[in-house]
Amino acid sequence: MRDVRVRFAPSPTGGLHIGGIRTALYNYLLARQNNGTMILRIEDTDQGRFVPGAEEYIIESLAWAGIKIDEGQGVGGPYSPYRQSERKEIYKKYAQQLLDGGFAYYAFDTEQDLEAMRDRLKAAGVDNQQYGITSRMQMSNSLTLSKAEVDHLLNVGAPYVIRFKVPENQQIKVIDLIRGEVVVESSQIDDKVLMKSDGMPTYHLANVVDDYLMKISHVIRGEEWLPSAPLHVSLYKSFGWHNEMPQFAHLPLLLKPDGNGKLSKRDADKMGFPIFSLNWTDPKTGEVSKGFKESGYLPEALINFLAFLGWNPGTPQEIFSMEELIDVFSIERIGKAGTKFDIHKTQWYNQQYLRAKSEEELSLLLMRSLDAEQISCSKEKAIKICAIMKERVTFPHDFWELGKFFFHAPVSFDESVVSKKWNTDAVNVLSTFSKEVETLDEVTADLVKSTLESVTASLGIGTGKILQALRLSITGNASGPDLMMTMEIIGNKEVCSRINYALATLKPSA
Ligand code: GLU
Repeated sequence: MRDVRVRFAPSPTGGLHIGGIRTALYNYLLARQNNGTMILRIEDTDQGRFVPGAEEYIIESLAWAGIKIDEGQGVGGPYSPYRQSERKEIYKKYAQQLLDGGFAYYAFDTEQDLEAMRDRLKAAGVDNQQYGITSRMQMSNSLTLSKAEVDHLLNVGAPYVIRFKVPENQQIKVIDLIRGEVVVESSQIDDKVLMKSDGMPTYHLANVVDDYLMKISHVIRGEEWLPSAPLHVSLYKSFGWHNEMPQFAHLPLLLKPDGNGKLSKRDADKMGFPIFSLNWTDPKTGEVSKGFKESGYLPEALINFLAFLGWNPGTPQEIFSMEELIDVFSIERIGKAGTKFDIHKTQWYNQQYLRAKSEEELSLLLMRSLDAEQISCSKEKAIKICAIMKERVTFPHDFWELGKFFFHAPVSFDESVVSKKWNTDAVNVLSTFSKEVETLDEVTADLVKSTLESVTASLGIGTGKILQALRLSITGNASGPDLMMTMEIIGNKEVCSRINYALATLKPSA
């Protein structure tokens, strides 16, 4: 088998969409599984769409996601440069090879010429109004003009493009590892521009030339490139590289959560979830889009989730580390159908990965939020908080967001609990309980529990009846983590002062 060499070949046109991360991931898994090479190539030949900062952003995003690049932009390697805008001379040479072999031609048509051609074909009832087998001989190109005319136009610097001369009467077969065999009649393909008038290659030429020169074994990319694959196969043949052609695998589309159409940034914005890996600031508009990272998603959770967007292991196991994914991944188990993007599932993965962390690790996440709030807290206390909060959080910042009451006494109280549970029984129990707690040197969860139980027993009131009122006085909320542990963490003085404040502020309902 040939060496596995795969590439992630993004165009630096903006923030890196999670679909891009998924493509990079599948390439990476295949490379690692086969002791192969993961290459990063920057496809920046479309100068009109180039966005400054996008390349650095891509590199940073991959690093955050844990996708390591072995060769390519930012790393170097035997086939540098890996930025296509720096490879112009190479593409020129290969375009010339196609021209010399009669596989490509110069075309001098103006915009108006092209428009007139489309109108003509439309009027004649042709569905596919393309520059190709049926129309090329009516156009202004080196197939229709004499050699002298062509030389003259080139000499006077007339603007031109180089087009691929799609072979006639051929069935072009693309073998896709996911979709099987796709056969296309060559008449369906247009004579694509290979070199633009600005001297830059188009995506098609640069992509095929580089995949060949960089000895790429597998092209794994999004389904949107499937329609280009027959052209690429045809180009490989024209270059005489058919035997070195990579294998293709076109990944299923990522769909909106309701399955209706392709997932876009607009959908994500509307539904309030990120679509880019890291925060992205649009250099033109200044608009900041929040990334998965900054929204509190752990890279390992996002990777696990993305692995399942189109692939499945064929077993019920859902949690896979990168190493495990490398072991079990296979292109054969990638589905053809588009996959719905479900942000709730991403959050579920985040929860699972947070829960799997030790309380010590989690306490560092809480400490980060506390530092930002300039709140000091002992490590021991942070660990205790994380231990009782870990089942309740989805994001690292939730330890703080959902646990503010560990540091600040409530200033307002959940009205529905006040009206239902703050009654004379509760007031009687809490005022006695508060006095008892005040006499304790320190509180442990067990000690507060037994103190509370002896108070309720002596007053003949069921503990269960007043628990919500107690929680309300301590946290202001109707629900939360283990209440006895919460009181242990807060400490006896604070427990008393909170209960006393609630007793002084809230009016019992009956
Ligand atoms: N530059 C293309 C993109 O940004 C790469 C397509 C391919 O992998 O061939 O999607």
